[in-house]
Amino acid sequence: MNDLACGVKSCAYNDCNCCKREGIKVEGTMAESSSSTCCASFCECGSPRVTSACECEPKRVTNIICDAVKCRYNDDKNCTAKHVDVTGSHAMISSETECATFVGR
Ligand code: SF4
Repeated sequence: MNDLACGVKSCAYNDCNCCKREGIKVEGTMAESSSSTCCASFCECGSPRVTSACECEPKRVTNIICDAVKCRYNDDKNCTAKHVDVTGSHAMISSETECATFVGR
């Protein structure tokens, strides 16, 4: 489990820098820096699946599955970083988000 702080305020799962999801998926198979990663779990505000998501309490502890295998925190597609920051405050689509905690090996 990871302590996740998410600054993607345009995501339907975001509440006060917390993510309401049980877990998120980060993409970036070929990523060598943060800018090539993104949160694949981003959900645009107003989409149909938002309603049930918003009934959950926001929380900081989240399970992160990650395809960014060139990150030093990546262990067999599980993120081992204690604290993770996802950024992209004006994101309209998932590719405009990124994992700011990415560190190359
Ligand atoms: S810190 Fe590294 S392993 Fe963890 S989610 Fe970000 S890119 Fe993936």
